Amino acid sequence: MRLLVVEDEHKIANSIKKGLEQETYSVDVSYDGSDGYDLASTEEYDAIVLDLMLPGMNGLEICQKLREQKIHTPILMLTAKSELEDKISGLNNGADDYLTKPFAFEELLARIRALLRRPSATLQTILKFQDLTLDTTNFDVIRNKTKIVLSKKEFSLLEYLMRNPGKVLTKENLANHVWDYDSDILPNTIEQYVGYLRNKIDKPFPNKKPLINTVRGFGYKLGTDN
Ligand code: CA
Repeated sequence: MRLLVVEDEHKIANSIKKGLEQETYSVDVSYDGSDGYDLASTEEYDAIVLDLMLPGMNGLEICQKLREQKIHTPILMLTAKSELEDKISGLNNGADDYLTKPFAFEELLARIRALLRRPSATLQTILKFQDLTLDTTNFDVIRNKTKIVLSKKEFSLLEYLMRNPGKVLTKENLANHVWDYDSDILPNTIEQYVGYLRNKIDKPFPNKKPLINTVRGFGYKLGTDN
């Protein structure tokens, strides 16, 4: 899981980053509102920790602009105690939760975990790609009317591929989004799991075009070029 922390107080920002990295999240930090907004609107994050008072652009504006652009990344807003009213407008402007400073790191971590578990408004529960269907509520995977049994990890990998159809995903993308809490990924782990998936998704259907494709030198892609 990849997180963005936008906070102008370097000390707080850096200690949040350090703590989250110890929890095996990958974390980007921005100390400025406009820069944070640029990152949040161009990079893919699984959640954003956003301070309210920031130079450049404040947290409320960032929140509002991201939601206007249909970017539904979960946002945890950080506010000072005196900014109570801003908290409420923060939630109205699309923040998912807020935390009052000063806070214990454990509290921040608990809130982030809760946000990451919560499916965002745009997340569909049933994903379809050509003749493949994946149901994220009951973990059913069906291709060409045949039910396919996947392990938990294979399922997460396929879910991530199906949420990004036609997009080239690097091994790093997959590692960052699928292998969240496992810290012991070997260089061939991703290849190995893509191999397991192919054996279940593509191999039993030799008359069909393979769905999982290697883009040499870059990574993997769900779907073909034509
Ligand atoms: Ca601040």
